[in-house]
Amino acid sequence: MKLTVVGCSPAWPNPGGAQSGYLVEGPQRLLLDCGPGVLAKLRQRDGDWPQVDAIVITHWHLDHWGDLVPWVWGTMAGPGRDAEKVTLWLPPEGIVRLRDFGARLGWEEMWESAFELREYEEEEPFEAAGMQVRALRVPHYTLRTYGLRVTNGARSLAYSGDSGPSERLAELAEGADLFLCEATLARGELDGQPRGHLAADEAVAAFEASGARRLLLTHRPHELPLDGGLEQARDGLQLEI
Ligand SMILES: [Zn+2]
Ligand SMILES: [Zn+2]
Repeated sequence: MKLTVVGCSPAWPNPGGAQSGYLVEGPQRLLLDCGPGVLAKLRQRDGDWPQVDAIVITHWHLDHWGDLVPWVWGTMAGPGRDAEKVTLWLPPEGIVRLRDFGARLGWEEMWESAFELREYEEEEPFEAAGMQVRALRVPHYTLRTYGLRVTNGARSLAYSGDSGPSERLAELAEGADLFLCEATLARGELDGQPRGHLAADEAVAAFEASGARRLLLTHRPHELPLDGGLEQARDGLQLEI
């Protein structure tokens, strides 16, 4: 199983960066989130149009799904014209939500030209791009948000999505080969209430509680460099899991 960090910026882009997008190959290709800038990076890597079998969206903040919009236009009128439809897994009630966005950005059914729409259910394993995925709800202000656990049977990856401190993170990442965990904040006390993000020390605490093998911190503003010894995502980073 291979992870490529396509984009790892927080809610605003780091210099030259893309927002959330993580490509898991195991061996089919699964994209976790699809924020602004992700499509450009995938095209840079794949040539004409990205070869992706499925996409899973963790929540409806734009930095995690915004590039679904140009994905549609590129499929309808651009180089994705002949591409196979991508299976797009959305949070519960996501199809209605996406169609509502469609009515404002184009038209309701625009998504169907590029994607086969599916909704996952909380804690209910589903298969995407030949891998097993399970979505666990995590606390992110008042927005319904999920962390994802992905396995190809041999290896496993946990992705926090955007999350405040929670025991669910340790559950999500329990024994995983890699825990891709957000570390957005300089300090936890700078967060809003209810909590929605983690500081690096809180991400480390969740990692230690989980028993996961390796921690990769992400969704980190460029303005907040990490202390030494912690492994941090950067756009283009590739890891064998
Ligand atoms: Zn985010
Ligand atoms: Zn968010």
